[in-house]
Amino acid sequence: MADLAVSVGLLLSPPAMAILGLLIGSFLNVVIHRLPQLLERGWLADAASYLQDEVAMRRVLGAAPLQLPVLARTGAALADDLARLPQLGLAMPRSRCPSCGHGLAWHENIPLLSWLRLRGKCSSCGAPISLRYPLVEALTGALFAAVAWRFGAGAATVVYAIAMALLVAAAFVDLDTTLLPDQLTLPLIGLGLLAAWLGWIPVSLADAALGALFGYLSLWSIATLYKLLRGAEGMAEGDFKLLAGMGALLGWQALTSVVLLSSAVGAAVGIYLIVARGHRREVPIPFGPYLAGGGVAALFFGAQLSRLWLPGQ
Ligand SMILES: [Zn+2]
Repeated sequence: MADLAVSVGLLLSPPAMAILGLLIGSFLNVVIHRLPQLLERGWLADAASYLQDEVAMRRVLGAAPLQLPVLARTGAALADDLARLPQLGLAMPRSRCPSCGHGLAWHENIPLLSWLRLRGKCSSCGAPISLRYPLVEALTGALFAAVAWRFGAGAATVVYAIAMALLVAAAFVDLDTTLLPDQLTLPLIGLGLLAAWLGWIPVSLADAALGALFGYLSLWSIATLYKLLRGAEGMAEGDFKLLAGMGALLGWQALTSVVLLSSAVGAAVGIYLIVARGHRREVPIPFGPYLAGGGVAALFFGAQLSRLWLPGQ
């Protein structure tokens, strides 16, 4: 038993978790790149079969839709186009250079090191490889190490490391596409509730459940109010679910910290974009990355922060 404890302790030590984080970060790069593509392919495939569904078209458009043959032909053409796309999954095909299609050998796919050794260029065509890839790997490695350092060699570290991976993926997918897929936000809610129920994190199941509920409802109310006042969408449902996940992991008490931290950073960056870069105010700025950042900050500094606005805690 003592040996097992030593092995677990080594495995969950900050240096080992840093290496694990680098490897997970490398996989997250694939997820960030491919998950939105997979989702959008799925939605378009649904649209294609829907357009060809005569019964559904009549149900929506009335007794004799004039464009029925056109809609069906469009659906069939869309299905054809989709069928011609190369196969895509999260695990296959292996990573390729986006400019020349050169398949990466294992030694060109080592987190961080390969990018440094290749000096950020494809070994085959010399096209630059985005700095984003090593940055996501380094960020994930750093977050995993920080979790292990802060929470020690126990179950909480495992839970929070999984949460970090989901948050990194969600933040970058949102940044790239303004999508916050359920595939990333719902597991966060489930993870928080399960870990609280198992007693793996210092949050009671009731606090976690209230955190998920209040997290969702608070942003939902703000967004609904904003929509009534401005007649435009400020935030989307993905943001509500992301904050629900944070509430489940950190307990409802942490939500104020998360929202204040992410709004402060979000507002600063938003004002900067509008003033300095001429970003049009109507174009939504994805809020997911700020929420994720606020959540990470609340995880590490939440106790100190909530003492500021919840005296007596
Ligand atoms: Zn290349």
